[in-house]
Amino acid sequence: MSKVVLKKCEEYSLDLIKNKINESLSLLGGIDSLIKKDAKVFIKCNCVGPFDKSLGITTHPIFLQAVIQLVKTRTNNITIGDNPATRDLTYTLKKNGIYDIIMEEGLEIVNNKTLLTIQNHHAKIYNEFEVSKEMIDVDVLINLPKLKTHSLAYMTVAEKNFFGLIYGLNKAGWHVRASNPLEFGEAINDLYGAILENLDGKNIINICDGILGLEGEGPSSGGKSKFANAIITSLDAVSLDRIACEVIHLDSSKCFITNIANERGYGCGEIEKIELLGDSLKDFDVSFIPPKDSLSNLGLRVLKIKPLRNILLEHPKINHDKCIKCGECAKICPPKTMVIEPKKYPHLTNHKCIRCWCCAEVCPQNAIEKSKRPLLGKIFF
Ligand code: SF4
Ligand code: SF4
Repeated sequence: MSKVVLKKCEEYSLDLIKNKINESLSLLGGIDSLIKKDAKVFIKCNCVGPFDKSLGITTHPIFLQAVIQLVKTRTNNITIGDNPATRDLTYTLKKNGIYDIIMEEGLEIVNNKTLLTIQNHHAKIYNEFEVSKEMIDVDVLINLPKLKTHSLAYMTVAEKNFFGLIYGLNKAGWHVRASNPLEFGEAINDLYGAILENLDGKNIINICDGILGLEGEGPSSGGKSKFANAIITSLDAVSLDRIACEVIHLDSSKCFITNIANERGYGCGEIEKIELLGDSLKDFDVSFIPPKDSLSNLGLRVLKIKPLRNILLEHPKINHDKCIKCGECAKICPPKTMVIEPKKYPHLTNHKCIRCWCCAEVCPQNAIEKSKRPLLGKIFF
């Protein structure tokens, strides 16, 4: 049985979080057996963009510091980072409040310069991925996701956080290659399978910072921060995601990334087969608002037919009162349908839009909203 440890934690207090995570790791075998002495460790944060810690979008600096101090009891060979989609990593880490913690702890930031091709020999769609070498060429990979809803993927926690192993803007290319949600879910799982193959025999420790999470139109400025007061730990990202879904009372049938992973046997996504340790689910009475107009399984299958997306789905809409014309949305847009001219607001050609919501993810102003769903889509879904 897959094990997940759930801990209630109501504040970002360093010692409190350290104790909770240490207790969680003890229930999974103990930090001494999970991290061998002087092991090479990479800590993967969620630094999706230059957002302040109070917004619940990125790994909280105190949470990271608690993990660092625990890992340091075993090794000093630690690298930390992520691959934000637009702005450079140092700028992003400074805005997240993470940079100062890494400096205070005297550790290295990943430089993301050397890429490594990893393979999934049982992939469904894509069998090769270029990832940052420093993130994967390690003895232990520690994954620190946030607990968030996601406009495209419905929910994003541990498994989806590995998408950040793909270098910067290369991530956007994956949205073109896997241009509907189900295909994207398969691609994320092809990547996760490649990570599992590459780290075979090594430990991947997933520790979710679900103290402050994000509901609504996540995973960045479109969402609304909300306390879930949870720390969720597991060696199985899929089980962790399944429990996370229960903690915030979302609909597990819509968590298609987890469901695909479960079908492929990359982890356990069935609640009755997961051994839940630590605190009880009954201790968590918070409900997160899901993304607007999230789709059922049938809806996701229908969207595989490209032309239907334009007549059934909402599209991005720029709120001119909030937009500062920074151009980040146009820079990331995978099919380049969002464009911006000097001193003007960005605009898009709706029928070319693949509804990946990358533009909303990188917008610093929460200026990209969803239009109303077309009448046909309302009737159909
Ligand atoms: S919509 Fe957002 S990302 Fe795009 S230009 Fe305006 S502020 Fe920048
Ligand atoms: S406009 Fe936004 S949602 Fe549409 S393809 Fe571009 S980034 Fe994706």
